[in-house]
Amino acid sequence: MKHADVAVVGAGIVGLACALSAARRGHSVVLFERGTRAEGASIRNFGMVWPVGQAPGKVHERALRSREVWLEVAPQAGIWCESVGSLHLAYHADEWAVLQEFDGFAGDLGYDVDLVDAAAVASRSGAVRAEGLLGGMWSPTELCVDPREAIARLPLWLAEEHGVTLRFATHVREIDDHHVETASERWRADRIMICSGADFHTLFPEIYADSGLTRCKLQMMRTRPQPGSWRLGPHLAGGLTLRHYAAFEPCQSLLALRQRVSEQTPEFDRWGIHVMASQTGIGEITIGDSHEYGDDIIPFDRREIDDLILHYLRGFLVAPDLEILERWHGVYAKHPQAADFVADVSPGVKIVNGVGGAGMTTSFGLAEEVLDNWA
Ligand SMILES: Cc1cc2nc3c(=O)[nH]c(=O)nc-3n(C[C@H](O)[C@H](O)[C@H](O)COP(=O)(O)OP(=O)(O)OC[C@H]3O[C@@H](n4cnc5c(N)ncnc54)[C@H](O)[C@@H]3O)c2cc1C
Repeated sequence: MKHADVAVVGAGIVGLACALSAARRGHSVVLFERGTRAEGASIRNFGMVWPVGQAPGKVHERALRSREVWLEVAPQAGIWCESVGSLHLAYHADEWAVLQEFDGFAGDLGYDVDLVDAAAVASRSGAVRAEGLLGGMWSPTELCVDPREAIARLPLWLAEEHGVTLRFATHVREIDDHHVETASERWRADRIMICSGADFHTLFPEIYADSGLTRCKLQMMRTRPQPGSWRLGPHLAGGLTLRHYAAFEPCQSLLALRQRVSEQTPEFDRWGIHVMASQTGIGEITIGDSHEYGDDIIPFDRREIDDLILHYLRGFLVAPDLEILERWHGVYAKHPQAADFVADVSPGVKIVNGVGGAGMTTSFGLAEEVLDNWA
């Protein structure tokens, strides 16, 4: 029987982060992924590392720690990673009010943000529509990676640099005490970390049934590479995004914004839409997204959702070519009240999951915390 100090199930960002953190502690690591490559949420996202949206305190600190790890690891692993920052844009008085209120306490909570007028927004990004713009909020902490590239390269680098043993196209069908069972091998591991994303059915379904975790489906789109050397600059977020991230929850002024959206454009609430844009290193603009929660996820995408997202996007983004070349959806696991779900299955086995819409932003930090606290 083969042996590793740590076995990790799932090569999405959570599993990769766990493998890295374990390997950096000098443990031998084996990483199992059932696909020939990771195919879950981690290759389907914007590639935004987004500390500015995370809840103040522990989760925001976790995001800033993950940011440091990205900046350290990406050049070593040959992953494109740019420190682009972000702009939240306000076209309505209620959006501007939320940004002003947030700006009033953000510094005390460790966020590094600046309120900027329309002219300063224009100096940061030539892609922002000027008509009707009241101003924006600049944050320097956001990074951009191309998730397809990053999630493909990280395991190869983990194998080369840290000696991690890779088992792709290897479905883990059972974990029993300290043993990992696949169709062709049985491994013994001192510690087993289950990072299986939105699959709640294969391993320990009874724990998932009681976990409070739910699944969330998001629709996404991508343009072709923009012509010439046109760049978006920072990640862009429209006013609907203020309804979405935990960082803004303490703002009393959010109530008025939420009320206007629910009265005037209930379709955005219905599909959980807020609109953001990022740009890959080769110039494609990634656009999203919607949020449909629950276990009953249909495999088909809704044209109506894409149309709503694109219509809203055109309200704040001016780009040379917004023709959509790719459409897809992703599904992640989310806990309604928590930023993660870490559960002990048995003394040597943990589930590490539930990072919701922030796995690219928080996983490296979370993995370190889990291993630090594992007695
Ligand atoms: C459309 C979309 C946009 C998003 N945008 C962002 C963003 O810009 N920034 C951000 O921070 N977050 C974003 N997120 C969230 C982020 O993508 C997720 O939090 C993160 O990818 C979850 O990672 P994971 O490793 O838990 O799951 P996954 O990436 O789904 O990985 C789980 C892996 O486990 C494997 N697996 C499962 N069961 C087994 C088994 N029994 N044996 C072997 N392998 C198994 C699966 O094949 C899969 O590859 C977005 C998510 C989506 C869907």
